[in-house]
Amino acid sequence: MSLIVQKFGGTSVADAEKIRTAARRAIRAQQAGNQVVMVVSAMGKNTDLLVDLAGQVCQGGGEPPAREMDMLLSTGEQVSVALMAMAIDDLGAKAVSLTGGQIGIKTDSSHTKARIRSISTDRVRKLLDDGYIVIACGFQGIDDDLNITTLGRGGSDTSAVALAAVLGASRCEIYTDVDGVFTTDPRLVAEARKMDRVSHDEMLELASLGAGVMHSRSIEFGKKFSVPIHVKNSAVFTDEAGTVIGPESESADRPVSGAALTRDEARLTVRHVPDLPGTSHAIFSRLASENVTVDMIVQNPGAGGTADISFTIPEGDLKQALEALQATVDQLGGGEVSYDADVAKVSIVGLGMATQSGVADRMFRALAEEDINITAITTSEIKVSVLVDRHRMTEALRAVHREFELDKPPHERASFGEPAAPAMVADAADVVDRLQHMEELTIHGVELDPSQARVSLIDVADTPGIAAEVFEAVASEGVLVDMIVQSVGEQGHTNLSFTVPQGDVERTITTVKRLMDKLGGSVSGTNHIAILTVTGIGIRSHTGVGTRMFEALHEANINVDVISTSEVRVNVAVDAKKGEAGLTALKKAFADVIEQ
Ligand code: ASP
Ligand code: MG
Repeated sequence: MSLIVQKFGGTSVADAEKIRTAARRAIRAQQAGNQVVMVVSAMGKNTDLLVDLAGQVCQGGGEPPAREMDMLLSTGEQVSVALMAMAIDDLGAKAVSLTGGQIGIKTDSSHTKARIRSISTDRVRKLLDDGYIVIACGFQGIDDDLNITTLGRGGSDTSAVALAAVLGASRCEIYTDVDGVFTTDPRLVAEARKMDRVSHDEMLELASLGAGVMHSRSIEFGKKFSVPIHVKNSAVFTDEAGTVIGPESESADRPVSGAALTRDEARLTVRHVPDLPGTSHAIFSRLASENVTVDMIVQNPGAGGTADISFTIPEGDLKQALEALQATVDQLGGGEVSYDADVAKVSIVGLGMATQSGVADRMFRALAEEDINITAITTSEIKVSVLVDRHRMTEALRAVHREFELDKPPHERASFGEPAAPAMVADAADVVDRLQHMEELTIHGVELDPSQARVSLIDVADTPGIAAEVFEAVASEGVLVDMIVQSVGEQGHTNLSFTVPQGDVERTITTVKRLMDKLGGSVSGTNHIAILTVTGIGIRSHTGVGTRMFEALHEANINVDVISTSEVRVNVAVDAKKGEAGLTALKKAFADVIEQ
């Protein structure tokens, strides 16, 4: 008998009628021959109201104690599960509601942002076998001392996917108030289209870019434990509706699947810091110790043995980050700090990008055509992100969405059937082993690519269209560009570095030189680099990955030349002679979390 997990978000249980509608849906699934576990969020905006109440009783200006916050917030879900069980009972089926603690959802003790350690399945299985619909409180768990914990706002998605994983559910359905996952935010771009499918990796990138819908950590679970996630609108009754988040992308022959906008970020730049081992480590470990989450990191070689590093942070952390950065720069003995609080990040994401060239330059051209300037770029295998002026952000997003025809359904679409059952691990010992580390960071691998060369353009004019011209010219020579990073240079100038296959470096330099009359600045290239990549799951939610990587390279006395980061990988370019040593150092640094 197959098992389904159905999760209902706050809007889908906002009133008595909606609760009854959800109850009927679960009963129908049970009548169709499935065992059903429901995971329910607090009704409507109840969690917000509780947060607000906590603020009202704490007038001293301090934060309420985190343990008590969890005690309070967990009540929202307790109300909805009890009501759901009553509704099901009233409709003539059997139901039992359970809190996180009653199920045995064990977490660590970091109140308000706890991570799941393990989940017991005995009680739930017994109830399911006895014909009950089991209704679980989302968002909550219990620590070793029986304190109630919560998983962070929006955490019910994570509870649902985690339960689906441990129970070996055939799928996890997420009922919400939108029709599924869209190619971009439909409130900003009217042509946004609902996708039928999106891959775990694409969704991870999109979710981290702020494309709402799902809690990022739930997607990490989905990927780690191969759970297909089906996002649906609770007001729609057909079964084909919604979006399946699974191993496959909507179309393999399409380079871009979605586009996203991240506002509320600020860019910090430090120029002319000594280009020595340990510089990036000093900067990012200091920020990490201040709990500032760093998003996009771009490092470029600057003039005369110095480096330029730009990165983005949440705008609200700007003051704190600036102070921390200035202090580090003083310690390092040089560098100019500047910032821009008026930026927005526009990103394109697609699995197809990994196997197609000419994607980034199409994006750059689309922006150039709108006369929108790009101030920073990072690329990863499946994502290109650029920073633009915040007042042009919506135009930028629309231009990109149009360029890649995201409003049109892909031609070749995989047939839409029942999502495949997850490949659950058969060995019981293996299951237990995995569950003990449910939310630990998983690193799939540390790799060394010695075949790339770097080309750098230093202090070229910072005007719209530069990136488009450079990468179109390089593409017209048939050269495949891999990693691209652009950062802020001398006043009104910018630095742009990218990697190409070693055999193509001379040809690329000659091509780019032809453009230099117009662009100004200088071009240089080196064959002597190696790229080190760390790939895995949880790279964003475990913010220490970059820091751990920089620390390991620092200890091995290896200088970091170029950096680019994404949700599922961090790439750095280092001196070719240090490639092997870097690989060894990183393997050692991540040995405890490398998946066997
Ligand atoms: N009720 C919690 C919140 O509002 C958890 C959730 O809805 O996922 O954040
Ligand atoms: Mg929610």
